[in-house]
Amino acid sequence: TYALEIKDLKKVYKGGVKALRGIDLTVEDGDFYALLGPNGAGKSTTIGVVTSLVNKTSGKVKVFDYDIDTDLTRAKQQIGLVPQEFNFNPFETVQQIVVNQAGYYGVPRKEAMKRSEKYLKQSDLWEKRDVRARMLSGGMKRRLMIARALMHEPRLLILDEPTAGVDIELRREMWDFLRELNKSGTTIILTTHYLEEAEMLCRNIGIIRAGELIEDTSMKSLLSKL
Ligand code: ADP
Ligand code: ADP
Repeated sequence: TYALEIKDLKKVYKGGVKALRGIDLTVEDGDFYALLGPNGAGKSTTIGVVTSLVNKTSGKVKVFDYDIDTDLTRAKQQIGLVPQEFNFNPFETVQQIVVNQAGYYGVPRKEAMKRSEKYLKQSDLWEKRDVRARMLSGGMKRRLMIARALMHEPRLLILDEPTAGVDIELRREMWDFLRELNKSGTTIILTTHYLEEAEMLCRNIGIIRAGELIEDTSMKSLLSKL
């Protein structure tokens, strides 16, 4: 079983931009995978299709064997998405934000409260649980986005440019956190345009350029070629 299996994925946006020109990609269960590429390469489009925020033009996508064309609900249940932009309600408290998210996935309230303790502690946000999200620092907001994405206990966590615009201190802190999460069994895919970030974190890497996957290999073998 793969965490993610993409076959011949194509996306043409209205207006004719060919964002994806036939991507083939697999990510193993338990992997830490980087999708690396410059701006405009097609990283967000790929993630958008996998998380069903973007309609594909053609191709196949399976998430833990659930085909997004025939088993979308179950495919989505496997995925936690951390988008680039903060999109929580800044006036809600930290705990409300994560508990409500679990509610959207049908997690009973009692269980949601239990999980909120677990994931807020893990994200070092438990002491801030009653604080409105707008009062948090940038790093805390990032961690809140991740804690929220974990509340339905997805097997695959996808992060879109998780450290874009984040200073180096904070980036290191995020990296440690993500490493721990991966060690505990969550498959992680992140997009980035920093090779350094991919290098620090990831076991495998796909390099995307102008809608094509030009490399799909282990980090080790990529680095040995440079
Ligand atoms: P990346 O995430 O690697 O920066 P994107 O997937 O955002 O790349 O973009 C891939 C290509 O698709 C770019 O040429 C971009 O301008 C175009 N694109 C992205 N979103 C849209 C959209 N909603 N409508 C039209 N073109 C888009
Ligand atoms: P309260 O009874 O004051 O809501 P709880 O301990 O039951 O306190 O709730 C803890 C957190 O969950 C609070 O931040 C609260 O706002 C939020 N919450 C309360 N009810 C719900 C609900 N039905 N769905 C989602 N979140 C809730």
